[in-house]
Amino acid sequence: MPFADPEKRRQYNKEYYGKHPEKRRQYNKEYYLIHRETIRSRQKEYSKNHREERRARAREYYRSHREENRANHRKYYRRHRQQVLGYYAEYRQKNREKILAQGRAYYWTHLDETCKNCGSTQSLQRHHPDYSKPVDIVTLCHSCHFLLHRS
Ligand SMILES: [Zn+2]
Ligand SMILES: [Zn+2]
Repeated sequence: MPFADPEKRRQYNKEYYGKHPEKRRQYNKEYYLIHRETIRSRQKEYSKNHREERRARAREYYRSHREENRANHRKYYRRHRQQVLGYYAEYRQKNREKILAQGRAYYWTHLDETCKNCGSTQSLQRHHPDYSKPVDIVTLCHSCHFLLHRS
């Protein structure tokens, strides 16, 4: 494509790929394979920078669709009642100790003023290092707690 003018070249490419969508797919695929690492790290960077935004948007969405969500849940529950109940029963069976520990801790323990890990005072929760010791808890904020259980 002997175009000195980049504007013309772009125009040409646009028309060419408009006529040959499979070529474009091929091109995109190759481009992706060659630049995979860069693309991935850029996506990671992007999602890191926009995490708060995304969360806020999800919250907003949830808030504005609350009734709809509830209705959907109810509908789902009505249709899959046995499955849902079975799922809960199984969960309780498997997590007996954990659930007992959570109940006891809720009753018998108080949260500290701050997260033990980061010092936050927001959304504090009880963490059990050992579920067989229900009243031994560590105060953690929601995000530290989440990270801890995920790792
Ligand atoms: Zn924390
Ligand atoms: Zn925990």
